[in-house]
Amino acid sequence: MNNNQVSLDTLVSLAKRRGFVFQASEIYGGLAGFWDYGPYGVELANNIKASWWHFFVRQQRDIVGIDGAIIQNPKLWKASGHVEGFNDPLVEDLKTHKRYRADHLAGVDTSDLEQLTDLLKNKKSPDGNELGPVRLFNMMFKTHVGVLEGEDNVVYLRPETAGAIFSNYKNVLDTARVKIPFGIAQIGKAFRNEISPRDFIFRVRELEQMEIEYFTNPADAQKHLERLKKLYWQWLIELGLKTERMEWRQLPPESRAHYSADNWDVEYKYFDGKPKELGGIANRTNYDLTRHAQLSGKDLSYFDETTRERFIPYVIEPTIGVDRVLLAILESAYHEEEVNGETRVVLKIAPEIAPVRVAILPLSKKSELSALSGEVYKKLVQETHWNIEYDETQSIGKRYRRQDEIGTPYCVTIDFESLQDHAVTIRHRDTMEQNRVQIKNLKSELSM
Ligand code: ATP
Repeated sequence: MNNNQVSLDTLVSLAKRRGFVFQASEIYGGLAGFWDYGPYGVELANNIKASWWHFFVRQQRDIVGIDGAIIQNPKLWKASGHVEGFNDPLVEDLKTHKRYRADHLAGVDTSDLEQLTDLLKNKKSPDGNELGPVRLFNMMFKTHVGVLEGEDNVVYLRPETAGAIFSNYKNVLDTARVKIPFGIAQIGKAFRNEISPRDFIFRVRELEQMEIEYFTNPADAQKHLERLKKLYWQWLIELGLKTERMEWRQLPPESRAHYSADNWDVEYKYFDGKPKELGGIANRTNYDLTRHAQLSGKDLSYFDETTRERFIPYVIEPTIGVDRVLLAILESAYHEEEVNGETRVVLKIAPEIAPVRVAILPLSKKSELSALSGEVYKKLVQETHWNIEYDETQSIGKRYRRQDEIGTPYCVTIDFESLQDHAVTIRHRDTMEQNRVQIKNLKSELSM
């Protein structure tokens, strides 16, 4: 089957069947918008994050990382505009009381209430009922700190990771050996009370973001946006995403925040073939640091020694969600192939991020073979940092199929001859070709 036609249902069922993603609290009926990553999902998500961190933090001399708290002083979210303005337009089916994103029902990219009211004037809900008025709904999750509940101690679960980056801008400038232009990167959970979470892990209420705030002289902001945009594309290609399903889209001024000078979404054509936001990059001007300077009373301006100028830095923000990247990887990797009259399902995930890098598969459970296989497994785990799976149950055919479905690039089979010739067979996922290698050369063969 042509891999372009993979449906969301197929991916959801594979993800559940093979232990990538489960519904959160499934035994209690689940909770809309929350998902748990299973044994292979967590490996894949960790590999995505490690790849991002390596590419954008360790390989870039001008970007450093932080890990901020999820709960911050609520003033931070007042300064950023989230308490007032992190709203989505909501409309309610007057009969079923189901709530919908008004912009999604109207098929436009705006939160302008008047425009949405106008567009939805003669529309019915997806269940064919009357709709109520369009109103704004704040997506911040609230909780309380301390023992007393009350408006005085309301705090928020962060709706994006960026907040702690802005509040630490001066700390990082004063302690790390950076000067403008430089970036601060962070990976972490964010929480949004989405009106209608849907499409599996595409729109969730607890998500994970990988964000960079890149601080620059205002005059250089667009240059850095272009540069970071290219880097992003390069990273997405390295992950193995299909280029023909991805494209940059520049947001028109009416879809951008009022302070934004330029904004691009990288869109990916998921299951239904329609482009959807995978990530984005924005020129946020000096909005954030200006607002934080105003509300905190701290001077966040910067004096550039070379140009002898003082300015509030502009910020370029590349941001992307781990969950949406993971879903795009599953979509890109999913293949169904006809092999000897049977359908083979295979995830062609790049070896560097595959949940299991190598599977060690002894051809028999006999003790002499288990002993040798156990040794090969232990040595390879010790010599590499790979996730390696050891599996001696079921027929070899079934074991190959299982490894194909979770995207393991290499299976190593160990047979009775291995006891004599100290060699094993490597079976390659994509070509299904096999070659015999000496055990002592296994690591280097598999590293190629
Ligand atoms: P959308 O328009 O799809 O609601 P957004 O423009 O609000 O997304 P941003 O605020 O730019 O998203 O968030 C940065 C990134 O975080 C997004 O590009 C996306 O990858 C991810 N993200 C945002 N909201 C969600 C969500 N509800 N579920 C999963 N990932 C999300």
